[in-house]
Amino acid sequence: MKSSILVVGSVALDSVKTPFGEVDNALGGSATYFSVAASFFSQVRIVAVVGNDFSEDYSAIFKRHNIDTKGLVQTDGKTFRWKGEYNHDLNEARTLETQLNVFKTFKPKIPASYRASEYVFLGNIDPELQLEVLRQIKHPRLVACDTMNFWINGKLEELKHTIGKVDILIINDGEARMLATEANLVQAAGKIRAMGPRILIVKRGEYGVLMFNEGSIFGAPAFPLKEVYDPTGAGDSFAGGFMGYLAQAKEITDETLRQSIIFGSVMASFNVEKFSLGGLSKLTRTDIDSRFKQFKNLTHFETL
Ligand code: AMP
Repeated sequence: MKSSILVVGSVALDSVKTPFGEVDNALGGSATYFSVAASFFSQVRIVAVVGNDFSEDYSAIFKRHNIDTKGLVQTDGKTFRWKGEYNHDLNEARTLETQLNVFKTFKPKIPASYRASEYVFLGNIDPELQLEVLRQIKHPRLVACDTMNFWINGKLEELKHTIGKVDILIINDGEARMLATEANLVQAAGKIRAMGPRILIVKRGEYGVLMFNEGSIFGAPAFPLKEVYDPTGAGDSFAGGFMGYLAQAKEITDETLRQSIIFGSVMASFNVEKFSLGGLSKLTRTDIDSRFKQFKNLTHFETL
């Protein structure tokens, strides 16, 4: 039986501009990218809210990926909207507008069938909502969490409370430096791990990922791509591939964590090749496994 992962995060309508094109009100959000990426490996249960402007076509994408949407509530009002742009250095999004809309009054109520979920991902969303969700899960085996500068600036105390209760924190390098008030990443990792998470994963855009675990650091490059169209959701599809594979692997060891980092990087690499969900939605497990093998060659070398 496939392992189940519960994810809470945003389901959004994104308007994104990159040097290669733009989209308006396309399906996005942290929980969306995470769920679709993780669905190739594990059963996903989503907790989020959308407004009455959310189209059936978008709901069909969740269905197609077998994502359990019992926890996806539809309510009066407008769906969360995010507007951002990237310049030629695609590593950093510039947020032009964030409209919380239906998330402003959202009180997540976890369906009874979700409460025994073993794996939990607290996607990027208000840290108070992340905590509210975690409180309703019985005995999770592994909890991972993401956040962003918006919350580090706006709700630092609440965020520290949430990350004090998680096993893995997955953030980008700028956020790690900001959270730790420390420029050196290795030292920042030490400070962040002292806040609670046993493992810190730092995403570094086109430069790859670093994982800081007890007594070890693992580094992986990003997959070298000829064309990158839209980095939106790279972080969340990374987290989806990472958690999805880890839950499927069942054992949580340094080895399975490292493999999960590579599956996360594979999913992120597919995601950035197209706008919105275009890079993930038509993939097959064969495409994924074949890029995983290419990754192995990319980083393989013999010892002396
Ligand atoms: P990333 O994986 O970091 O590129 O995440 C991109 C997604 O995050 C977009 O699809 C946005 O809808 C979503 N997002 C942006 N800002 C926020 C926010 N403040 N809270 C929740 N989700 C957000």
